[in-house]
Amino acid sequence: MKVTFFGAAHEVTGSCHLIETKTEKILFDCGMFQGGQFNEQKNHEDFQFDPRTIDAIVVSHAHLDHTGRIPKLVRDGFRGPIYGTNGTLELAELIWKDAYHIMTYNNKKTEDPVLYTEEDIAQAMSQQHPVSYREPFSIGNATVVLKDAGHIFGSSFIELTADGKKIAFSGDMGNENVPILQDSESLDSVDLLICESTYGDRVHEDENMRKEILLKLVKEGVQRGGTIMMPAFSLERTQEILYMLDEMAEEDKTLPHFPIFLDSPLAIDALPTYTKYTEYYDKDATAKYKKGDDFFEFNQLTITRSVEESKGINDVPPPKMIIAGSGMMNGGRIMHHALRYLSDPKSTLIIVGYQAEGTLGRRLYEGAEQVRIFNEHIPVHCTIKAIGALSAHGDQNKMLEWIGSSGTAPKKVCFVHGDEHAATELAHKTRDRYGVKTVVPAFGETVEVE
Ligand SMILES: [Zn+2]
Repeated sequence: MKVTFFGAAHEVTGSCHLIETKTEKILFDCGMFQGGQFNEQKNHEDFQFDPRTIDAIVVSHAHLDHTGRIPKLVRDGFRGPIYGTNGTLELAELIWKDAYHIMTYNNKKTEDPVLYTEEDIAQAMSQQHPVSYREPFSIGNATVVLKDAGHIFGSSFIELTADGKKIAFSGDMGNENVPILQDSESLDSVDLLICESTYGDRVHEDENMRKEILLKLVKEGVQRGGTIMMPAFSLERTQEILYMLDEMAEEDKTLPHFPIFLDSPLAIDALPTYTKYTEYYDKDATAKYKKGDDFFEFNQLTITRSVEESKGINDVPPPKMIIAGSGMMNGGRIMHHALRYLSDPKSTLIIVGYQAEGTLGRRLYEGAEQVRIFNEHIPVHCTIKAIGALSAHGDQNKMLEWIGSSGTAPKKVCFVHGDEHAATELAHKTRDRYGVKTVVPAFGETVEVE
């Protein structure tokens, strides 16, 4: 068996790994490359393999950088099954439609090409095969099982057995004790692990403090009297933040009273999926659900679905808070709010997720004094804060623990889905701790399963 890396190699996006057994060709994920642009030029290049020869694809989770090129794979002739959990496949459909919408919008403005059609999305949907956590299924001679990764709703890591060897792919590994989700399961003993390394060189603040940190930043923002902007990934970060705000507003009664807007159509569309698969909930979320508490709804929250409603936020006097995508500020409604409020010294930007190199979010995180949005130069005068504990990804400590969680470390670990520095540092730490072989593969590199 061998693995070739066709994305997320020395970078964080574009996850796509080809597994070749003696008899099967299987893809783990097929995501979009995302940097400064929503839809990077690289997405339009031909696949380095023939999509018609792929037997099946197994999807770790719905995020665009893990699923976004699947309709293109279908466009180019892939007709095999697409496996993932119910939650993943349902959210992937929303993600594809949302991406299509953004691409056609950009196409009208800048003539950027659109990666696939609505027909390709419909075709991809017809190839979906939902599977349950922990229930093994076969792809030819290979046996595959999905386990909970605790990263986003429905997210999984993948274990595959074939040719007398066993491999695993972490997908994206969740942070500890996150709201709503269960903690990630332990890894089985494997010969080779493909492992993400987004935060491979960082340690988050104490996750038990995340609610306190969020409350403190929100209170400070309210005190400054301006607008609090929170760019958040529409899937998961947004729902977790709503869950915590709901708790602060209704149970703890600690949240100051001021208007909060959920200004993300994708996040709004995803809410029904979150209320459908309650078996994914952790203990606390289950208890709330059983009590009848709708944890995506509280008094001061307004959902702004339409463009008109979104524009209406401008007329609401501050202090106010806006939660909007995209999470890395490379598109979406947050751009319009940033244009308006970044230059306001009373306003606050709270960054809650990973910011890839080249994105506006990253430049602001690194302290840019001036940025360009829609061809306008905007001076940055607002206060900028970041909360690592709200990240959807495990930090270095979590990853090191998880890699050894079966009791026997994998024989070989390939680090993907991380900037070069993060991937290399996690590789060194893994080698030091477990004495195993580590690889930080380049794009197109093949690694044998030994
Ligand atoms: Zn992810």
